[in-house]
Amino acid sequence: MSKLKIAIQKSGRLSEKSLDLLKSCGIQLSNGDRKLKAESKNFPIEVLFLRDDDIPQYVEQGVADIGILGENEVWEKDKDVTTIKKLGFATCKLSLAIPKDEEYFGLEYFNNKKVATSYPKILSKFFTEKNISVEIEVIGGSVEIAPGIGLANAIFDIVSTGSTLLMNGLKEVEVVTSSTAVLIANRKLNKEKQQILDKLIFRIDAVRAADENKYILLNAPESAVNSISAILPGMKSPTILPLSKPGWVSIHSVVKEDEFWEVIDQLKILGAEGILVVPIEKMVI
Ligand code: ATP
Ligand code: MG
Repeated sequence: MSKLKIAIQKSGRLSEKSLDLLKSCGIQLSNGDRKLKAESKNFPIEVLFLRDDDIPQYVEQGVADIGILGENEVWEKDKDVTTIKKLGFATCKLSLAIPKDEEYFGLEYFNNKKVATSYPKILSKFFTEKNISVEIEVIGGSVEIAPGIGLANAIFDIVSTGSTLLMNGLKEVEVVTSSTAVLIANRKLNKEKQQILDKLIFRIDAVRAADENKYILLNAPESAVNSISAILPGMKSPTILPLSKPGWVSIHSVVKEDEFWEVIDQLKILGAEGILVVPIEKMVI
């Protein structure tokens, strides 16, 4: 029986979340502690721990069948792989920043300027589309120090809070794109591996749906059932159970995490009481 080989980052911002995702999918690993490889006893998968930069190439070549990494690396490496789905973690912006005292007057600012980055492909594509000519200085890391040491006029890098920029006397002036962790796959998986991948995707979807939804229970007067059902449709329809108190029912349903506060306000207006919201472990739609 063949195994699906998945490449994840050995150590860095994606490592823990990638392992957590596999764990929530019920996949137990023999030696998850950052060796080169780990196997699973309860799922036909083998985990390879690699540098994220190398993952697109290994997946293209079939050394790994699938991989988890940031879209930024997928775009930059530009290998022939399939992006299967976004995973909803490691979300960050890729931005242009300039020395904070410089006056910024739009993208034209960058004409004939030198920009330091570890993402030359993404950046040159962006400026080519905008018809702006820049000189790109490729550096491997610590890009934010480049203007300070006279290596470049500006930088293009990952920005999350902007505190690193601030510490280096820079300000963010353009968000070029944003990136999030994705699952990528080799283009020519055999049938057996494709079946294992489909199984894994099914589990990932269940885990992600559970993360994005909450189970909600509340008490309400019977007269409010229709209006409450309309705002809490649930997966098929809400469960309505009678309470021993006459004229009252308990309503059970599912609510999206990001709609939750708004829904609660509406429920209160409709007379709901004793509202409980609990996490969902797995959700198969
Ligand atoms: P490696 O040694 O594996 O090459 P790295 O130094 O290139 O690691 P990390 O800093 O661990 O990479 O970041 C991995 C990925 O996490 C990035 O490519 C990006 O997609 C995402 N990422 C980076 N910085 C942030 C951030 N501040 N917030 C959220 N996601 C981020
Ligand atoms: Mg890297």
